[in-house]
Amino acid sequence: MSLKRTVNDGLVARAAAVLPWRDGIYGHMSTARLPAGYPQFYASGEGARVRDVDGNEYVDLMCSWGPVVLGHRHPAVEAAAAAQARMGDTLDGPTVQIVELAELLTATARHADWAMFTKNGTDATTVCVMVARAATGRRNVLVAGGAYHGSAPWCTPRLDGTVEEDRSTFVPYDFNDLASAEAAVDRCGGDVAAVIVSPFRHDAGYDQELADPAFARGLRALCDRIGAALILDDVRAGFRLHHGGSWDPLGVLPDLSAWGKALGNGFAISAVTGTDALREAASRIFATGSYWFSAVAMSAALTTLTTLREQDGVAAMQRAGQRLRDGLDRQAAAHGLQILQTGPVQMPYMTFVDDPHKARLSLFGQEALRNGLFLHPTHNWFLSTAHTDEEIDRALEATDAAFSAVAHHVEELA
Ligand code: PMP
Repeated sequence: MSLKRTVNDGLVARAAAVLPWRDGIYGHMSTARLPAGYPQFYASGEGARVRDVDGNEYVDLMCSWGPVVLGHRHPAVEAAAAAQARMGDTLDGPTVQIVELAELLTATARHADWAMFTKNGTDATTVCVMVARAATGRRNVLVAGGAYHGSAPWCTPRLDGTVEEDRSTFVPYDFNDLASAEAAVDRCGGDVAAVIVSPFRHDAGYDQELADPAFARGLRALCDRIGAALILDDVRAGFRLHHGGSWDPLGVLPDLSAWGKALGNGFAISAVTGTDALREAASRIFATGSYWFSAVAMSAALTTLTTLREQDGVAAMQRAGQRLRDGLDRQAAAHGLQILQTGPVQMPYMTFVDDPHKARLSLFGQEALRNGLFLHPTHNWFLSTAHTDEEIDRALEATDAAFSAVAHHVEELA
């Protein structure tokens, strides 16, 4: 039985006429690179579930690609946002929430002496780069090859619409390879404003890789030695691994952090935090936006962070993630399939061994979907605190059916 797609397909056809992408939708949410059958359009979300425009419901293992950390439409977050919306959202200046949120972030993240707020993760990483350059008066920034830091010309993964000059001061190194970062510094003749790094390697299309603590400490020491800023891009992992920042447990504190996604439980807000040493430089750059001060998202963020903290959301997501990981391991073994699960359990990813063209993984995703589970075959997944044992068990029913389909077709999928 296949899923109903009538409304979806009608919208896809209309979108293709008036939106620029081949199948209508652009960017990470386009279904163009997904196996057939994935819905493009959604109607609603509630807790750990999303519903597409045709009324099909799925346990959601993407959490809107990260932002939804307490579950869709979390009552306390929705109430805080609605209360502020009744007062006004974008006014002639910020509201009290900007101060409260900056107080909360600087009290939470050990490195943070100040905070500023933006809208998207790309804004936050871009501001970090500007602050580092303003502080050092230098040009080059070291970026790990393949890492995603946003869609501005300096970091977008596709070169169309960019010019060489946009990227010529961004110098590649390899994640978890300190020697490659040191060599990149040498190539820049010491002109390095910053090193930007993700807390772990979560490049789309690859198995995830945790940071070697020696690498993290080594990058910190390298930045100290050459007087460059260490920028942690915590946009994707922030508030899922540790409230103080994802490298806090390693004892490695950045000079600047970019935050986004989980910060507002789906409301549009991102943030930059930094140390006192960079405060003056941060005050000199001109970075702003019409919606950067909107109070609704800040209210949502305040409630998201306090609720996560009160509920020990990180521990809840770890428990749920472990239950999922153990379940997948058990099921794969029972079906005689070899899988690889990588990354932190609360930001899981799974691939099949000996699946060079990801044919097994594609079928797995399609069959999970047909059985009521939304996951992405080539991007890491996300858990939220709404993923109760029952939701994980429901997800595991779908994955069991999906493993069964893969096992059944394993010869053809070689
Ligand atoms: N950095 C990382 C690590 C990300 O995962 C993302 C988004 N996937 C970004 C930056 C950019 O965030 P946004 O899409 O909100 O601009």
